[in-house]
Amino acid sequence: APAGAPALEITDLRKSFGGLAAVDGASFAVRPGSITGLIGPNGAGKSTVMDLVSGVQTPDAGAVRVAGQEITGLPPEAIADRGLGRTFQTPRLYPTMTVWENLMVAGMPQRHETLRAGFLRAAARRQAEAEIAARAEAVLGELEMQSMRDERAETLSGGQRKLLSLGRLMMRRPPVMLLDEPAAGVNRRLATALFDRIAELNRQGTTFLIVEHEMQLVMRYCDHVIVMHQGRVLAEGAPDEIRADPAVIEAYLGG
Ligand code: ADP
Ligand code: MG
Repeated sequence: APAGAPALEITDLRKSFGGLAAVDGASFAVRPGSITGLIGPNGAGKSTVMDLVSGVQTPDAGAVRVAGQEITGLPPEAIADRGLGRTFQTPRLYPTMTVWENLMVAGMPQRHETLRAGFLRAAARRQAEAEIAARAEAVLGELEMQSMRDERAETLSGGQRKLLSLGRLMMRRPPVMLLDEPAAGVNRRLATALFDRIAELNRQGTTFLIVEHEMQLVMRYCDHVIVMHQGRVLAEGAPDEIRADPAVIEAYLGG
């Protein structure tokens, strides 16, 4: 990657649904090594930005770059291969599989031919499975979900599903993680534990872009905050600057 390139950069990104401009010329950059918060009222376009960045939706215009390389319009698997992973506001899990199985599947090689070929050889497969299982065990512990390992995903609470979807991302450890409301529906103690875990992954080198509504969590954990309103970036800066910005307060109160 070019020296000094942002971990993620969007430039004049646009996406309309029918007549509605969900993302209406949004531009921002995420500094490598940061925990960047993405906030804004409901309907501001935050989740759509994540969809455009991760290839779930194709932008009408604008550019997306990861570590300086343009990825605009690539399919989701190709973008994941560039080291960008995401969770969804509504977790996407295998509902009839257990917590453990959901983690194991996330850790399996998915499309690389060489790795898949490796999986055909029994010894290599056993070794790889043992490594994935060890990682799944560690992730279960980090998320305090050991007691739920044999529960089917469809039986989990909303908050537990959020945790499991983060766990699935932790199985792959992409260098850039996009999290869409990771703490929504998670109780306060666990939300704090979750963000402590995010901070630890960040210390180990993972860059985060996180949509989060709970301002106390944003203030405590994010080093930079981007505010979206009506499909555009309204403001960005350090958390305490953002909290005191009259335009930001107006966007929230004015709806
Ligand atoms: P946020 O995540 O900030 O709450 P979203 O990106 O989910 O906002 O939505 C932005 C706007 O785009 C909203 O008005 C929403 O209803 C609309 N929108 C999002 N996705 C779609 C879609 N797939 N089809 C139609 N409208 C959509
Ligand atoms: Mg959203």
